[in-house]
Amino acid sequence: MMTSNCVFCRIVAGMESCYKLYEDEGVMAFLDINPAVEGHTLVVPKKHVESLEEMDVEDFVSLCRGIKEVLNVLIPKLGADGYNLILNKGRVAGQEISHLHFHIFPRKKADGGIFTPKRIDLGEVYRKIIGP
Ligand code: 5GP
Ligand code: ZN
Repeated sequence: MMTSNCVFCRIVAGMESCYKLYEDEGVMAFLDINPAVEGHTLVVPKKHVESLEEMDVEDFVSLCRGIKEVLNVLIPKLGADGYNLILNKGRVAGQEISHLHFHIFPRKKADGGIFTPKRIDLGEVYRKIIGP
């Protein structure tokens, strides 16, 4: 169910803008507003859930399918050499937004690592991935 005080629910509902890379019936992926590396992407289920434990297995399978669809485009388009795929659950693990999400961090040699935010022009990255 849509939770209006959840920023990812608002993005899914089109109430907040984002650089959307992928969408299907149950999943959406968009560029992280504060990227740690070029192409830092968030993949979210459209339905607000806070943990894998509370998610239907079918919905988790759909989310995994969405992640694969994104990877198939994102990594070659950016010429990345690899990636990190991370889910933070709980404040102790670094979770800030309660709506479940996977981070994809495309990785390149000498990219400065994933723990320091970088000044990256999201529009430019979006055009590299999706086109003009
Ligand atoms: P967490 O620490 O919860 O795993 O990660 C939340 C991520 O969401 C952070 O990397 C943060 O930059 C990103 N984020 C927070 N608010 C917004 C937003 O309004 N739009 C987008 N695109 N990303 C956001
Ligand atoms: Zn939500």
